[in-house]
Amino acid sequence: MKAVVVFSKGHEVKVLEVPEPRLDKPGQVRVRTLEVGVCGTDKEIIQGEHGRAPSGSDYLILGHECLGEVVEVGAEVKDFQVGDLVVPRVRRPCPHESCAPCRDGHPDFCATGEYTERGIQGAHGFCSEFFVDEARYLHRVPRELREVAVLTETLTIAEKSLRQVQLVGQRVPGKRSAPGRAVVMGAGPVGLLGAMLLLRAGYETTMYSHAPKPNEKAKLTEALGVPYLSSEEHEVKALVEQRGRADVVYEATGAASASFRLVTALAPNGVFVFTGVPESEKTKWDVGTLMKQLVLNNQVLLGTVNAAAEDFDAAVADLGRFQGDWPGELEAIISARHPPEDFAQVVTGDKSSAVKDVIVFSRG
Ligand code: BGC
Repeated sequence: MKAVVVFSKGHEVKVLEVPEPRLDKPGQVRVRTLEVGVCGTDKEIIQGEHGRAPSGSDYLILGHECLGEVVEVGAEVKDFQVGDLVVPRVRRPCPHESCAPCRDGHPDFCATGEYTERGIQGAHGFCSEFFVDEARYLHRVPRELREVAVLTETLTIAEKSLRQVQLVGQRVPGKRSAPGRAVVMGAGPVGLLGAMLLLRAGYETTMYSHAPKPNEKAKLTEALGVPYLSSEEHEVKALVEQRGRADVVYEATGAASASFRLVTALAPNGVFVFTGVPESEKTKWDVGTLMKQLVLNNQVLLGTVNAAAEDFDAAVADLGRFQGDWPGELEAIISARHPPEDFAQVVTGDKSSAVKDVIVFSRG
């Protein structure tokens, strides 16, 4: 079968003929890949800055944001049938008994760092015509979400973030009538889906993104009813003056120093959520003032990665709600579909589109 791989040596990306995977355990499911989303992590993998091939393989099959269709189920699989649409989770637990989160089914909080991630870290991904996975790592998706469910994994990042923001928020005494204000940094797919989730959770939400208007991302943001401010045109001070301080900042850019500048926009008791994985970036920073601000305002800087089963279930349910709330918006986030052969050029930008690029393996 066809697979999009990156070679460990030289980082060449190629469509390769590889053996088709077969069921070898009764709890497994064989899935036909329909679509795979491309994201910044794929770029880092291809540049050799993140991820690794499975041991014993000189290449990694790419792809971690996937929608597929079940074509075969193992003898012990009860929850899935041939024809079901499914989205796989990305991370698999480490082998260590001492790792409480992994043993508890939460490798997204793995404490040893020896987890694997399909399509990223030591395990082949989903950018192939078929893949096999254990049923417990799959989530069923309703047919109505066929055209947008490839966005599920991206939304899980926001689902896990919001869950943690709510947990952290429990430390603050007193009942609030509304959750408050949120600023989303970066109007890419992670940011747009994050904005939708924050809006639905009741946050008065603002988008703070690099490019000046007019642009496609600003258009999609404003279609949600969310004001869009360009960071090129508005300094953080102007953002605060116009929109007030933020109880939650949801960073979705991976731009390190720009993110830290935005910490000054945080309200007392606020939480700043980092989701991006930036490259090394050295900068002069007044850490005294930063620490003073955090301490005197009970603020939290929170890093978050990956997502748990409950976040995938929540994301599937929320995609359905978003379709009702903003018809056509999710479809518009997927700004281009490409054949597998275009993967490398989509990642390098030569064939990338305004928002989310998706690789199509099969129409099902
Ligand atoms: C993926 C996560 C993964 C992270 C780090 C992100 O792009 O969505 O599932 O944990 O990269 O590898």
